[in-house]
Amino acid sequence: MPVSPDMAEDLAGAVAALYEQAELALIEKVTRALAAGLDSPLWTDLKLQSIGHLRTAIEDIIAALQADAAGAIHTVVAEAYNRGTTAAVVELGAVAPAVATIPAGTRAVDRLASALVQETGATHGRILRTGLDVYRQVIADATSAPLLGATTRREAAGRALAKFADRGVTGFIDRSGRAWNLTSYAEMATRSALGRAAVQAHTDQLAAHGVDLVIVSDAPEECPRCKPWEGKVLRREGASGPGTVEVEHATEDEQMVRVRVAGSLPEARAAGLFHPNCRHSVAIYLPGVTQPPAPKKDRSRATYEQSQQQRYLERQIRAWKRRAAGSVDDSARTRANARVREYQGRVRELVAETGLPRKSHREQVSAAR
Ligand SMILES: [Zn+2]
Repeated sequence: MPVSPDMAEDLAGAVAALYEQAELALIEKVTRALAAGLDSPLWTDLKLQSIGHLRTAIEDIIAALQADAAGAIHTVVAEAYNRGTTAAVVELGAVAPAVATIPAGTRAVDRLASALVQETGATHGRILRTGLDVYRQVIADATSAPLLGATTRREAAGRALAKFADRGVTGFIDRSGRAWNLTSYAEMATRSALGRAAVQAHTDQLAAHGVDLVIVSDAPEECPRCKPWEGKVLRREGASGPGTVEVEHATEDEQMVRVRVAGSLPEARAAGLFHPNCRHSVAIYLPGVTQPPAPKKDRSRATYEQSQQQRYLERQIRAWKRRAAGSVDDSARTRANARVREYQGRVRELVAETGLPRKSHREQVSAAR
């Protein structure tokens, strides 16, 4: 069974849901704290006095997130590694039935999990800073304009909070320079780490059994970045760049086979293979035995563009959930919730039309803490 990052990415939902809960809880806490007593003439003073309460409330949100995320991350990384190992064992079993021991890979799992805990944990400081900054900024905005009556103050605070809810906690930049908000960043980081764990486990098994070549699949929902690698044979590790290698035939003794290789697996990955949302896989390449892969039939009628459209709709659902959490009055909240349902309906339609799997964890309504 070939390995693909795709085979473990679904597990990221459990971690992303924790971050989404924390982000919604933050927006709601800040919004409720500011909305309370909004029509009182003493509002500004009261709000400045109670900033300590808000700080404590946010620190509680972060502490709960920290504890839950560390556990969830370890669980899903172990499961991803497990899936990758199983995939390799199934493949190896077909050629070397003597594959008996499955190395536990505990140390590899620990290493991959702590790297991810560290990567997502680095976002936690910004949750507190953002919450307090927005709180202070809204007070300043709502107080600064001269002759602001209670109504216009309510409008000013509502506008500022809606802006905050639109973005959520921001400022997370990935390696390619793209900006994400908290939940999307945590999900992206988790998905890539889980994909890496599955592929790593597969590669570790191959290494343990002296398998040096792999072959890249021909994937449905083809992504442009992977096209150059489709159906190509790669070295599991070692030298990059195309070439021809002479290797022993997988089943015929003392027979050598010449194999054209397109490069190495690390090289292909550095060039984009197994990017987030990649649908490609690699399998063991057996010299003289493995045939080039037939183009895989689409698992659905969906195109790559349609799967991207689904991602877009899912982001809208999340955005309107944040809007609902950041509404100072009920009618705005009701409107935002209506938009959530509208986008959920559009996802259902798209799913029905294309047969794409619905990733409901990505649009889940999470109860705020
Ligand atoms: Zn791809």
